[in-house]
Amino acid sequence: MKPGPVKMWFITWVWNHTPTCKEVTRLASQRLDGPLPLSTRLRVWLHTTICAWCKRYLEQVKLVRDAAPGYADKVEQASEKSLSADAKARMKRAMREKDAE
Ligand SMILES: [Zn+2]
Repeated sequence: MKPGPVKMWFITWVWNHTPTCKEVTRLASQRLDGPLPLSTRLRVWLHTTICAWCKRYLEQVKLVRDAAPGYADKVEQASEKSLSADAKARMKRAMREKDAE
């Protein structure tokens, strides 16, 4: 079903007036440290009304937070660091292999 003009206008408006998906992800981890201002929470919520990915992401963050308070943010930090370190190591290896050729 094609969305009507009102719905299209709403989606466009929300898209232009709410944080980007990247921002929402960042705010989600920030939220673990403490409650966000009401206006920010409102904009994040508005974003989730049109973005299924962020909605799911926020639900997962909340699940982890509820299951193990104080753990979710650590996991996020750890995975972020290990990921980039891993990527760096892979790059170095690839470069070395290229030099050896
Ligand atoms: Zn999103």
